[in-house]
Amino acid sequence: MSKSTRRSRRRPRVMMSLATLRRAIAALRVRRAKIALVPTMGALHEGHLSLVRLARRRADRVIVSIFVNPAQFAQHEDFGSYPRTFTGDLAALAALNVDLVWAPDVKTMYPKNFTTQVVLQGPAKAGLEDAFRPHFFAGVATVVAKLLIQCEPDIAIFGEKDYQQLKVLTQLARDLDLKTRILGAPIAREPDGLALSSRNVYLSAGEREAAPTLYRVLRQCAGAIATGQPIAAVLNKGRKEITRAGFGLDYLEVRNAETLAPVASIKEGPLRLLLAARIGKTRLIDNVAV
Ligand code: AMP
Repeated sequence: MSKSTRRSRRRPRVMMSLATLRRAIAALRVRRAKIALVPTMGALHEGHLSLVRLARRRADRVIVSIFVNPAQFAQHEDFGSYPRTFTGDLAALAALNVDLVWAPDVKTMYPKNFTTQVVLQGPAKAGLEDAFRPHFFAGVATVVAKLLIQCEPDIAIFGEKDYQQLKVLTQLARDLDLKTRILGAPIAREPDGLALSSRNVYLSAGEREAAPTLYRVLRQCAGAIATGQPIAAVLNKGRKEITRAGFGLDYLEVRNAETLAPVASIKEGPLRLLLAARIGKTRLIDNVAV
């Protein structure tokens, strides 16, 4: 039996305690294995799995963390009802030959008297997600800093779906001299263009029908900006179209793709067009390159 066949039959080792995880990581380090980490909150879909496949190609050992992080949800947000599908997640990860699943509980990540929080500036204060979810990035950065310290990966993979988050975490790893290289991965979409998200299950049939408007408008606006049309006018038209489709728009903005700083002209590129919009009880985010 080949090595890969043998491995494909093995389910990932599921670790729930820090001591067990540390022993496993130390053993991998002794063997000089290149480790990739894919942090997730579970409820895995094809978007997450595309990150795992990229990790598989880039490293000898793949760790997927599954942790619904209470620190990144505000009181009124969906921490309690966030979809949790652990058994199905494990089966999907086994099929992709994931080596280790790190699934700590809340007490393990945030023991009694936990008080530390990462304070962020730069891309975390760009006036996009941070303007609507003020606690979000401190919660994300703190938990990801912990995950990177716990798992000591050579690379960690994050989706461009959460574009501002990717920039915040790239900055975090650089600023804190973490040895992990942060890699971005492209957005996986439904055939009609809707970006895959664990939260898409909240959409009613009618909302699901309206949802591809977001990607359509993003593409239209990106095309218009790329051909030199005035940014403000293009964005105003796009905003109207999104609102007309039944969404409450949080933002539709074009930014410098690296710093996320506002731009007045295409010359300040490379550019990224980003949006967040609400429909029913669901908040969707998406973005495209210009
Ligand atoms: P989450 O479980 O929503 O925290 O997402 C875990 C990781 O998967 C993050 O790096 C996300 O950006 C990424 N991700 C989520 N949805 C997609 C998607 N549709 N395409 C690519 N990556 C995604």
